Amino acid sequence: MLTNTVQALIHQFTTDLTKLIENEAQSIRERITGAIANMPPGKFDPGSVVKVSNTPITAGIKPRKSRPVFRCLRKNCKNVGAPIYGMVCTKHKNTPPAAIAKLKAQRAARAEK
Ligand SMILES: [Zn+2]
Repeated sequence: MLTNTVQALIHQFTTDLTKLIENEAQSIRERITGAIANMPPGKFDPGSVVKVSNTPITAGIKPRKSRPVFRCLRKNCKNVGAPIYGMVCTKHKNTPPAAIAKLKAQRAARAEK
């Protein structure tokens, strides 16, 4: 008697949980399909995802370009500049702010050429 009740409860719980997961999966599928449909044309081929649902959703998405490395402002220094030091490297972090501003202006002038 008690076993039957427990079994019924477990059955009900499993059924509810399955439905919940299926609904959630369906909702996610619809949201992804909707998001792809709303993408501007040319950027992404919706066919690559919508037609074959077993392929990973990343198919057709170009890998993100990494940010360009910003070099230290000091002349002939090949180290990586850090924004926290005003775009100079750790070796040149004691450069006075006025000098950094000057170097930045010089670099901007060089970049314009
Ligand atoms: Zn440096």
